[in-house]
Amino acid sequence: MQVNILAIGAHPDDVELGAGGLLLRMGKQGYSTGIVDLTRGEMGSRGTPEIRAQEAETAAKILGAKTRRNLDLGDGRLEVNLHNRHALAKVVRQLKPTFLIGPYFDDKHPDHAAAGMLMRQASYDARMKKLDLGIAPHSVHIMFHYPCHIYINPSIVVDITPYFERKQEAVMAYKSQFSLSPENGYYPEYVHIGITNYIKHTKARCGHFGSMVGVNYGEGFFCQDPLLINDLYTLIS
Ligand SMILES: [Zn+2]
Repeated sequence: MQVNILAIGAHPDDVELGAGGLLLRMGKQGYSTGIVDLTRGEMGSRGTPEIRAQEAETAAKILGAKTRRNLDLGDGRLEVNLHNRHALAKVVRQLKPTFLIGPYFDDKHPDHAAAGMLMRQASYDARMKKLDLGIAPHSVHIMFHYPCHIYINPSIVVDITPYFERKQEAVMAYKSQFSLSPENGYYPEYVHIGITNYIKHTKARCGHFGSMVGVNYGEGFFCQDPLLINDLYTLIS
């Protein structure tokens, strides 16, 4: 199995929040997408790893992802080390994506920051010919980072207006995380690390990114490397 775009999250639900619209849009345009969650989210204040795994499966179906894998590298203690780099590099070699999408590498949640760095380093490991991981090397072309808990000045904004409602559906598949009803474990006294009402705030964030490029809803991505283009008109397609 191969995919065109591989999106990486530290926890199940990161990809939906940061890049759900992009995956929907690219899928609709004929590209295949995949998701790798680096941990099972077992340290989350709400839900259990089992519930989150079911929710992740439902969300992947909503997003139309061809595959979704979980590397179980330890929630709350995700590290940038050789073992984890190679675990992710193996998946990159198997799925052979052209693009990698992952969290911003300086996020305030340590797992998100580690996931962003792991993605960058694993992409190098994946291409090294002399690194024997049992699978042939693969070179990723471009890596983008999505924001989690902090704002980033985006290098590109993708218009997700036609896909915004479906993205929100994918986010809400994680009832254990985002439902504001007590039967799903919500208690208002809890102080969140990031945002509380994800539906409202995701709408605000996507509205803000959209406003930067003159559309209703957008997702913003940061690219650390210069982007090579040969035709300026590809930027206004
Ligand atoms: Zn997360």
